[in-house]
Amino acid sequence: MDKRKRGWIIAIDGPSGAGKSTIAKRLARRLNYLYIDTGAMYRAIGLKALRANPKLDDQAQIVSIACNSQIELKDTPEGCGVFLDGEEVTQTIRAERVSQAASIVSGIPEVRRVLVQAQQQMGANGAVVLEGRDIGTKVFPDAELKIFLDASERTRAQRRYEENLRKGVMLTLEETVAEINERDGRDSQRADSPLVQADDAVYLDTSGKTIDEVLQEILRLVEKLEKDEVRSADEM
Ligand code: C5P
Repeated sequence: MDKRKRGWIIAIDGPSGAGKSTIAKRLARRLNYLYIDTGAMYRAIGLKALRANPKLDDQAQIVSIACNSQIELKDTPEGCGVFLDGEEVTQTIRAERVSQAASIVSGIPEVRRVLVQAQQQMGANGAVVLEGRDIGTKVFPDAELKIFLDASERTRAQRRYEENLRKGVMLTLEETVAEINERDGRDSQRADSPLVQADDAVYLDTSGKTIDEVLQEILRLVEKLEKDEVRSADEM
């Protein structure tokens, strides 16, 4: 099918605090695309695993949880609603303990296999913006546009710190730096699908840029995609 008619698959990857969620959500809204927050899926499994066994030391149990859970992402006026086996967990999965649990369960290859398959099904029709760590490398290696969003450690920690304050989470800036470094270190060093930039991804550093500036840069890349597609169709 003509990819322009189908709508593009846009992959946004990068470390925590780079601004992925804010940008991906706005981009999807702007293009009228589906927005898929793949981190929310790992968080949902992390939450269920924590509830079953707070030590997270039983891999077989975590795999079984991943295979037997229903995770739904629903577009609501307030943003992306996350439902785990019918229970709304949109806010619950943002707790710090759940962030770390998500990062731990996401290192288990069988868990990744189950969630990646679900993500591929959700995005298969195109017209979709997916954000995560492995979208451009594993979930949709043929995505038409791949962005790797990054920011300096200081910027990422400051953003997460402010987000935490708004949520009532009391971590100091230093504790926040330690938290994101721990999670990014684990995400980058795991054997299966580590956080890496895809060779054909566009690298964007969001430090010192406004949301709007980053969004405009990505929209220009989408425009270029459209133009290139029209040109190659004309040449045929
Ligand atoms: O993006 P977010 O911070 O919500 O993701 C939570 C965790 O889920 C990440 O730290 C990472 O360990 C994991 N994750 C992943 N692959 C993705 C998305 C998230 O491993 N595509």
